[in-house]
Amino acid sequence: MESWKPVAEELFTWPDDNPSLIAGRCGDCAAVAFPLRPGCPRCGGTAMRRELLERDGVLWSWTSQGFRPKAPFSGSLLGAGAEPWYVGLVEIGGKIRVESLLTGVGENDLEIGMPLRLKVIPFHTDESGDTIAAFAFEPATAAQTTEAANA
Ligand SMILES: [Zn+2]
Repeated sequence: MESWKPVAEELFTWPDDNPSLIAGRCGDCAAVAFPLRPGCPRCGGTAMRRELLERDGVLWSWTSQGFRPKAPFSGSLLGAGAEPWYVGLVEIGGKIRVESLLTGVGENDLEIGMPLRLKVIPFHTDESGDTIAAFAFEPATAAQTTEAANA
């Protein structure tokens, strides 16, 4: 896993056993934005400070997508015979909603308000054969089961 390369720099902490999304908090109005960008989306201020988000969130809304996700998820994610992918808005810490791939779920598993946890997943393989990693959220119950199995 340590050799995986993040799909974009400054998106999540990596390599990291407990990866976190990298957001920014505005020094002027305290708005939190993800991903971290130089300007505040709320007030236009430029005093954005790096702030890591909690790994746990809840599902706010979701959709299944039969088309190629937008950046930063562009890539060869949807190969031939691709399974359906789910994209959700995940509310983290009651302060921000992050658009994310959902993993380890089927349509019948998805429930608004369900607890989710951040996970870094292999996303695609680039020309040099390196694994490119992206972030996703999986059901928190699945995360706990995985951790118990690895303990
Ligand atoms: Zn601001």
